[in-house]
Amino acid sequence: MDLGQISEYCYNLTNSYLEITNQSQVIADTQDAIRLTKRYFLQDIFPRWSPLSSEISFSYNGGKDCQVLLLLYLGCIWEFFLNSLQDTQYDRQYHKYPLRSLPTVFIDQEETFATMEDFVASTSERYCLSLYESLRGDGRKLSMPEAFELYLKSHSETKAIVIGIRYTDPYAADLKTIQPTDADWPDFLRLQPLLHWKLSNIWSFLLFSNEPICGIYGMGFTSVGSIKNTLPNPHLNVDRTGKPSLLFQWEIAHAFGKAEGQHDQVNVSKVSRKDLALLKGSNGKYLPGWYLTDDSLERAGRIKSC
Ligand code: ATP
Repeated sequence: MDLGQISEYCYNLTNSYLEITNQSQVIADTQDAIRLTKRYFLQDIFPRWSPLSSEISFSYNGGKDCQVLLLLYLGCIWEFFLNSLQDTQYDRQYHKYPLRSLPTVFIDQEETFATMEDFVASTSERYCLSLYESLRGDGRKLSMPEAFELYLKSHSETKAIVIGIRYTDPYAADLKTIQPTDADWPDFLRLQPLLHWKLSNIWSFLLFSNEPICGIYGMGFTSVGSIKNTLPNPHLNVDRTGKPSLLFQWEIAHAFGKAEGQHDQVNVSKVSRKDLALLKGSNGKYLPGWYLTDDSLERAGRIKSC
């Protein structure tokens, strides 16, 4: 699929989720969350910075939150494109989609799981990302602000960057949907239209989407940092959970475009051998990340640095 086709696909996927009726409270809440995110993009953001130019970049690391936001962003760009054609006299098929790839920035800061690296590479192709990968400094770790500064130097047309942060993330409680960077950061606008999403909304939409989900989440991870600071979430250890209940059975069984006979399968990416060997060392077996819906426990697998 080219960028126009995957954008249209994400537009249809989002509409399909919004059309679900008479389902769980989680789905109803997630539909509200999607409507608000769409409003931010289509009414507040796109009229100021066109997503069809290079003014907006997307920050992407293959994590579940930025993947959800990317699916919604692509769908909204398609809707914006359709809206822009309303006053023209020719049919849509005579208009070429103006973008071939999506400006995207990945700060390759610390040693990440090989599964995650593979996932970033495969989804970059699937979503037609023009992925800028920041270089690790020569021997010295670049800070996030330094890495973004380098990005902006080589992408000087960038005015704003879309970020998949949520209120429940650390230090995020007071953030705003659109805000300038802090004084010690390079100057750009942070676009944060996912702030109001809860963990259960993320899983409900992502599992319904039937898009590939990074395999590391299938191994009991719920939020992924570097290899050095992330373990499977202890609250998903099968010895601790007792009889697990899954909130998203309906989403998995009725996932978008799912083929017959695949009802219980979740579309996770392959876990790399390197990570499988690494995980042999962690204690016991873990349920997949989507069994955890308590926002306050999402980062329980992260090891705090002293
Ligand atoms: P998870 O919490 O499961 O790891 P996530 O990576 O999407 O999912 P966070 O880790 O909370 O979410 O990060 C918030 C957002 O910040 C991401 O969605 C992404 O937009 C941005 N971000 C985080 N790390 C990076 C990175 N290394 N490069 C580019 N953007 C990043």
